[in-house]
Amino acid sequence: MAADVLVLGAGPAGLAIASELVPLGLKVVGLAADDPASPWQNTYGIWADELDQLNLSHLLEYRWSNCVSYFGAEPVSLGRDYGLFDREKLQGHWLGRSAGMSWRRGLAAELSHDERGSQVTTRDGDVLTARLVIDTTGHDPVFVRRPVLGPVAAQAAYGIVGTFSADPVPPGQFVLMDYRSDHLSEQERLAPPTFLYAMDLGGGRFFVEETSLALAPPVPIEVLEDRLRRRLAHRGVAVVHVQHEERCLFPMNLPLPDLRQRVMGFGGAASLVHPASGYLVGSLLRRAPGLAAAIATALAGGDRSGAQVAEAAWAALWTPELVRKHGIYQFGLEKLMRFSEQELRQFFSTFFALPEAQWFGFLTNTLSLSELVAAMVRLFALAPADVRWGLMQPKGREVSLLWRAVRG
Ligand SMILES: Cc1cc2nc3c(=O)[nH]c(=O)nc-3n(C[C@H](O)[C@H](O)[C@H](O)COP(=O)(O)OP(=O)(O)OC[C@H]3O[C@@H](n4cnc5c(N)ncnc54)[C@H](O)[C@@H]3O)c2cc1C
Repeated sequence: MAADVLVLGAGPAGLAIASELVPLGLKVVGLAADDPASPWQNTYGIWADELDQLNLSHLLEYRWSNCVSYFGAEPVSLGRDYGLFDREKLQGHWLGRSAGMSWRRGLAAELSHDERGSQVTTRDGDVLTARLVIDTTGHDPVFVRRPVLGPVAAQAAYGIVGTFSADPVPPGQFVLMDYRSDHLSEQERLAPPTFLYAMDLGGGRFFVEETSLALAPPVPIEVLEDRLRRRLAHRGVAVVHVQHEERCLFPMNLPLPDLRQRVMGFGGAASLVHPASGYLVGSLLRRAPGLAAAIATALAGGDRSGAQVAEAAWAALWTPELVRKHGIYQFGLEKLMRFSEQELRQFFSTFFALPEAQWFGFLTNTLSLSELVAAMVRLFALAPADVRWGLMQPKGREVSLLWRAVRG
């Protein structure tokens, strides 16, 4: 019997959407390369308030209240809690909610459609049919199509979980961005800036990660690794034991997918990663329930064609307001990518001096369109003259990105 929904992929996006569809009584089948319960490798961070608002803060393994950034010599207190997910709990939460569905092992290879629904053929030749297929196979999806609008900028990072000869950050502290660069030569400071993202994990263990905002082409991992070790050495810190290494590379400014296509997307596949911050998990948790409800409603009208169901799903995921905001974020990221280290420091210093509700809402994509514009206008008004000048100068793709954002 055909499923109502076939979910391709068992990463955070696949599990998140499945966990909202199953409780609505839909027949959901999943297809993934591995066991959906096999452990995830990435470390997932989130602002703790995002989980508090969803009553899900029990999914955190770590929570810090002492959260700072460095845009100059002195730390700036962020005044908001930050957390790291307990990956097993997060995965278990989603798997528990979707316990009624069945998972098949395999890799989706071909897709075809008819009036009623869609058919996916795996590499092994198995055929699965459903009224709606949701592709959650990540940033380079197997079926979802996106227009090509120029080079895609990627965030790159190299991190170590381990023990060190001295504390890389003060006990109990989380550092969102440490832009101090006194360990680099004048010449090196002209290269694309990178910052330290770091936290005390307790028990003598720390996570330290050298990160670049987003760049096309991305900062090479070897450069990040070298910079991390030199940054630590400059503070008299040596790595004693490496428990885990994280090599991170994912696209930040992916264009929106074609919203008229028959296959639905979610997560990285549907360009849901926040173009300015690189975060995704909070938005999966917030957006999955509404998307699932829209899909259930569309499927309940049994006379709807597969194309109409997909259309309703895309319209629920990417509302006109979210499309416009995505365009504004894309424009903003394009600006930041051109900033020198000095300009970035000044920019972020001004950004985190905005009222908390504004910078937090900006980073979590929870402001309305008018609130987002108001935050940006305020940021512009408060910024030092050279940052303002940098924000005003149109360069490269910025004009077309701005036009796209305005047009929606
Ligand atoms: C190192 C790293 C750190 C990150 N840190 C954070 C963070 O702190 N906070 C945050 O919010 N975001 C973070 N992100 C961004 C984002 O949350 C992750 O990229 C996230 O894993 C994307 O989820 P996804 O489910 O869309 O895709 P993925 O996690 O890539 O999952 C894709 C799934 O599809 C399956 N698949 C692939 N091809 C096929 C196929 N042909 N058929 C069937 N199945 C297939 C895969 O096996 C996998 O199960 C990070 C990303 C990386 C790379």
